[in-house]
Amino acid sequence: MADYKLFGDVVVFDATYCSNKYKKPLVVFSGSNHHKQTAIFGFALLEDEEVHTYRWVLLNLVDVMDNKKPSVVVTDGDKAMRAAIADVLPSARHWLCGWHFEKNCVFWATTYLWGTFCAGYRTTSRCEGINAFIKGFLKSTNSLLELVHSLDRVVKDYRNNEVTAQFYSTYYTPVFITGLDKIELFASKIYTRSFFKEVRKQIKEVGSLLSMGKDTISTTSVYKFLTMGNRRSVRRVLYDLTEFKIECDCHMWSSESIPYIHIFCVMKYEGLDEIPSSLILRQWCKDAKEWTPKETEG
Ligand SMILES: [Zn+2]
Repeated sequence: MADYKLFGDVVVFDATYCSNKYKKPLVVFSGSNHHKQTAIFGFALLEDEEVHTYRWVLLNLVDVMDNKKPSVVVTDGDKAMRAAIADVLPSARHWLCGWHFEKNCVFWATTYLWGTFCAGYRTTSRCEGINAFIKGFLKSTNSLLELVHSLDRVVKDYRNNEVTAQFYSTYYTPVFITGLDKIELFASKIYTRSFFKEVRKQIKEVGSLLSMGKDTISTTSVYKFLTMGNRRSVRRVLYDLTEFKIECDCHMWSSESIPYIHIFCVMKYEGLDEIPSSLILRQWCKDAKEWTPKETEG
């Protein structure tokens, strides 16, 4: 439940039935934790695959989870699931899982998912992995009790993976490679190891930007950058001195929730070592689960 509260903005709603002895769909709710690993929020063995049954399980999920509703639900495109989602979670966006997608139409899948925040679901292995895993033991369980034990073991295995990742994130000392050591050090201290590696790529790319100067209007500086080799696209990045806010017109922050290259470039020019708190997402931090909000945050 704590995992769902923290990481349940994007929820994969998946059912496996083909290899299921009970001839009943087993529904799995999963997502991604701060280490970009699969987190399992819950299971349900359903009576059938009808819309009203899916509706019932979704209503229960929301109810059990203190009415927290996901903003994105990922499915394999099942029609009944779709109808139930539209009914119970009308404001949630519905995405098709990349894995099922790619089987049908690879090109469309990549363009469709590009530029939309999907908490790692663009990597297609996630849905496939959990499905294969569950299908494997569904075949071998004979009683309901055995099934419950197996599911319990799955959850424990996933938790164990998280403990290992948390350990490595805590005791990880990176070798600085970006040339912007202080920013890199700050990022390595706050982010989990897997997210830090992505952020580090962005910091490293700062050198590929050409500055086109800056304009200052009142307390806001507007930087202009060109990417080497792509002289057509000029990026404008705003830095608000008083609010300590950085915004870029590439909108990578709002779509991917990752501080992007242009933001680090402004930090370099402004001599900032710390990423503004408005650009730090709890769900990518080492201490995501022991989070203490800063008093200065409004
Ligand atoms: Zn940008």
